[in-house]
Amino acid sequence: MNILVLNVGSSSVKYSVFKDEKEILEGLVDKIGEKTGEFKDHESVIEHIEKELVSKNISIDVIGHRVVHGGKEKESKVVDNEFLKEIEKYSDLAPLHNPHEINGIKISKKLGALQVAVFDTAFHSTIPSKASTYALPNSLCKKYGIKRYGFHGISHSYIASVTEGKVISCHLGSGSSVCAIINGKSVDTSMGFTPAEGLVMGTRAGSIDPGIIPFLIEKEEYSWQQIEHVLNEESGLKGLSGKNDLRELLTDDSKEGKLAVDIFVYSIVKHIGSYAAAMNGVDEIVFTAGIGENSSEIRKRVCNSLSYLGVIVDDERNTEGDMLISSDNSKVKVKVIKTNEELMIAKEVKKAVTKSHI
Ligand code: ADP
Repeated sequence: MNILVLNVGSSSVKYSVFKDEKEILEGLVDKIGEKTGEFKDHESVIEHIEKELVSKNISIDVIGHRVVHGGKEKESKVVDNEFLKEIEKYSDLAPLHNPHEINGIKISKKLGALQVAVFDTAFHSTIPSKASTYALPNSLCKKYGIKRYGFHGISHSYIASVTEGKVISCHLGSGSSVCAIINGKSVDTSMGFTPAEGLVMGTRAGSIDPGIIPFLIEKEEYSWQQIEHVLNEESGLKGLSGKNDLRELLTDDSKEGKLAVDIFVYSIVKHIGSYAAAMNGVDEIVFTAGIGENSSEIRKRVCNSLSYLGVIVDDERNTEGDMLISSDNSKVKVKVIKTNEELMIAKEVKKAVTKSHI
């Protein structure tokens, strides 16, 4: 089975082709619609991918789309017109992501292959109610489907598939989240109703006192769009220091830069501690995504605050690019695992197609 995996963003399309579980092609188009970009819109990118496939003599059986918000969906599903309408309803819950992904599904129809939606929220559908329910009026939560959905589920599920027991998966990229996993199932995660909750991120504040929001709306006369912009685009490492790329911050000697990194590390340490407590122990801690995979410095600083859990990191393993970076006498295994969302999507597509007997 040849599977085209599409990750459609507002100005980029990441694509790869899997022959069963082997990646045979990958590509990335960015700056879509920008002056310096090669493509004026997403339609022309899909045409470009189609041409590339034809030129390489690759036929496609199924297309797997990453869709950030799947609402109540617990698993990946084949997309027909009716289901597409259902997914469109979730755009309210993820306005920055879902509309682009839905557009991706619509314009990919011309490729003539079966399409499957793979949701970033689905992996977290196993989170128990005590961890997924916000202590807001029940009626409001029911009316609007307000609960912890969690995100980065495709990445965390990949980590769950290659680890064992009680695992804390730290997906640290420009957006970051931590997930508590028991025997392959998500039991809690730091992102919530939206990707804004939890860790301090590149441009997102993460968890803050909810009282700050009405306070700022009143004092600054913000509209809801403005406050959302401040929380998602102007906060986090960028808000603290003016820089949202950790690579730059790690070499920044300014007081603000140093404090921003301290706050970032502290927020990871606190989340790991709370999940170790929630699971009554932890067997493995995994670092993944841009920062998790590449920054030995951040891994070291986080792990140095986890000695109470019996975490001991081997400095050589940590800096030499080993997968296992804890020492042999560490009570908890600490690993660096390159996430593979594309492979996970391809696997999910196969499962969904088999299940629908197509
Ligand atoms: P996205 O969430 O956009 O997929 P990535 O997982 O690719 O992001 O992570 C991107 C982030 O990873 C960048 O913003 C950068 O701060 C960070 N990063 C990448 N390499 C390093 C490194 N060697 N040291 C520290 N941070 C890094």
